This record gives sequence, structure tokens and C-alpha cells, in this order.
Amino acid sequence: MTEAKTDLSKLDGTERTQEYVDRLNGILAQMAQAPAEQRNPILEALIGLFRDWNMDKIKTRREGRPIAVTWYGNAPEILNGMGILNYNPVVDLMMHLGFTNYADAYKCDSFPLDGNVCSLIRYAIYAVQNRLLVKPNVIIAMGEPCDGELMVHQAMKESDFFGDVPIYQIDPSYGHDKKDFEYVGRQLKEMAHWLEKVTGAKYDFKRVAAVVDETNEQYRIWKEINECMKASPAPLPGFTVPEVMWPLTQHLPAGNPRCTAVARMLLGAAQENVKKHVGPIMKNEIRIVWPDLDPLWNGALTEWLAKKWNATVVMTDQQYSKPYEVIDTSNEDAMFYGLARRAVFEVPMIRQGRGFVDVLIDDLTDMINEYHPDVVIAPGHMGHKDKAGNTQFLKKVCRDMGVPLLNLTTSLFDERYTPLEKVENDISNFLSVNGFKPNPD
Ligand code: SF4
Repeated sequence: MTEAKTDLSKLDGTERTQEYVDRLNGILAQMAQAPAEQRNPILEALIGLFRDWNMDKIKTRREGRPIAVTWYGNAPEILNGMGILNYNPVVDLMMHLGFTNYADAYKCDSFPLDGNVCSLIRYAIYAVQNRLLVKPNVIIAMGEPCDGELMVHQAMKESDFFGDVPIYQIDPSYGHDKKDFEYVGRQLKEMAHWLEKVTGAKYDFKRVAAVVDETNEQYRIWKEINECMKASPAPLPGFTVPEVMWPLTQHLPAGNPRCTAVARMLLGAAQENVKKHVGPIMKNEIRIVWPDLDPLWNGALTEWLAKKWNATVVMTDQQYSKPYEVIDTSNEDAMFYGLARRAVFEVPMIRQGRGFVDVLIDDLTDMINEYHPDVVIAPGHMGHKDKAGNTQFLKKVCRDMGVPLLNLTTSLFDERYTPLEKVENDISNFLSVNGFKPNPD
């Protein structure tokens, strides 16, 4: 039977968003039925935030209030402080891949884009072409860190769906000095006034500053959680910290006190476990540093690492909170300066992927010094050509510090690119030759 063709011109993107809401409601209902000791209040709160945010997208669109498509690191604090609902065009689609047997990824296979383009870029263009996103009033483009990002916006401009949406492109600095952040800060201020003109939303320094203050508190909590992750046994399962803190600070509405409350719950859980000296791996813990973003397949990998090797990931680039500085909100220029620094020098991928390689060397050196890994595993995401060129630097840091390094080639966002079995096999060989012993089958 052939699938009935949808008339795309009739869709405004709320249809797919409603599917997300329905699915998340179903998941929440199932979770609520589990016995009390099996329930995970942090996960339930996080899913509840995603459900509400998607509902808000639909409502905002129907009420004709402004919506922005943007990317992480594009100072979402400004948009939120101005009351402009904003979303990243790939976050929901990627989050739901695991709930739908990768349905969108399979559809992307026949999508006419080169197979070696970063999976994240493919998903973004596919989502726009198929009207799977709530139609925005403005787009805040990301001009970094890779060429694929530039291509996405060109594709948006050429699409029937997003072609008429005005785009603001931030010109990111290459360097990381005071004058660089001032340069980007001036653009962010200009962006706020551009948003006023294009959307009719009002920029009010005090309202944006209040959002920034709340995010300052979220990053402070994040740092405390990472302090806990220095303990052995590590108090939380691998990838848990970034998988919770990243959406709370970048994807869900920035500066939402509900997000801060979830961050506090995670901190409480970590502190409690440190106090009791417990964690998911209770003996012979093999600690791993993962110098890249988290893979979408992190759940299956974490389970396998623990079961087969007593191994756990204690730090990733996405989890690394040390670069985040408190933003001074006592005056407008200081606030834009701090937001600019956060945008081009603190959020992961942009921090390590753009500009001087010293950042990558320093970060890995610090992670090894502070989190005491037994090994470093770099996933080698197929899209990051810039990071692929940095392999020699990773090798040098690890060799100098006496920590074994495994360099893989995977897609962080499509587990089919390098099947998990192959990843597991490579990790097992690597750990064995470095003298670690697996658990018996
Ligand atoms: S994951 Fe890497 S390759 Fe993909 S969009 Fe981000 S920077 Fe570009």
C-alpha cells in the first residue's frame, strides 16, 4: 500500500508539533503508572517542560504572537526577555527519533543531500522542506562553527515555507579577546532593536537582565553538579548531566524558573550520592572523558559500558561548565558583552570548533586534570571537519598526560552511520589492549 501524499502547502508546522505533544503526554501517563520507587521525577519534569513548551508553540502561532527559529548559543536570553518564543529547528525532531524507530532519519535517507553532510544539517533542511516546524516570524542564523550551518540558512531562504522569513545573521568573532566580545555584543544589541522593528516585540533592558540573572543561577548550579562528578564513584550515570542541563539552558525557554528547579533536583541527587559514596558503578570504575557533544545513542552506550566494563563517561564537551562566566547585569553594555562571550566562547562545539586550537588543548588538559579519566574516547563526529583536523592535538595531549586515547568515526546524531556493535567492538579492543578486564558475560 502506498502512503497517501500530504499536501504540504496546507501545513503550518503545528500539526507535527501536536504529534510531539500527544506522544509526550502518552509517555508521561505511562511514567505516572510506574511504582513510586521506579519513577524518575527529574526525567518526568524535563519531559513535562518539553510538552508545555510545544503546546506554547502551537498557541503562540495561533494567537499570532512572534516566534523565532534560532540555534543554541544565539543568546536566547534576549529573545525570551523580549517575549519572543524561540526554538531550535532540530531539537524536537532529534529527541523523538528514539521514540519512533528513527522514522525521520529513514525518510532523510532518500532526501537529496550528500550522505556525508552532518546528520544534524540534514534533519534541519528536511524539517523545513516538509513543514515539520511551527512557522516563525524571524530566523536568527548561526554563522558558525561549520560550513553546514551556512548551508542550512541558504536552504531555508530557498524553501517555500521559510523563504519569506527575515533572517538576522550574527557575525561571530574568530578570536576570544575583550574586543571580540565587544564586537559581538554590539551586534546582539543591534539584533534586539532589529527584532523590535520586525516583530513588534519590545526590548526592555530590565526584563532581559532578569532572564540573564536566572540563567546565571542555572550555570552556577551546573558547576556544582560537575564538582560532584569529580567524585569516585561518579554519582550520576554517564551523559546525564549534559542531557539534563543542556536542554534546560539552551532549548527550553531561557531563564525559566521551572528549569532552575529541575537543575536543583539534579544537583540534590548528585550531592546525595556523593554523600553516601554511591553511584551507578560501585567497583573498578573506568572513568571516561568524551571530548565532543553527546551522541543521541548515549543511553544504549552508557548501559553497555556499565554492564560490560564498569565504565562510565564522567565529562564531555557538552557537559563542561567551566567556561561559563557570571554575566554582569548591572548595566546594558556589560550584559551584552557577557551574552556575546557566552555565545562565541562558552557554549560547546562553537567554543572548541571555531578559532584557535589552544582552547581544545586547554579544555582537554583541564578535564584530565580535574576528572581523572582512565581513558579518553573521541567519537569523531563525521560532520566536524574542523575537529577531525584536531585529532593530532588530542593525541599529543593524551600522550603527554599518559592517558590512552581512542579516536572513533561516528555520527553523533544517527546511530546507523557506525552501528553501535562496531562502536562497542572498537571500545572493547581499545580497553583490552590497555589492560582493562571486561566483566564476564
Ligand atoms: S554538529 Fe558539527 S558538523 Fe554538525 S552542525 Fe554542529 S558543528 Fe556543524
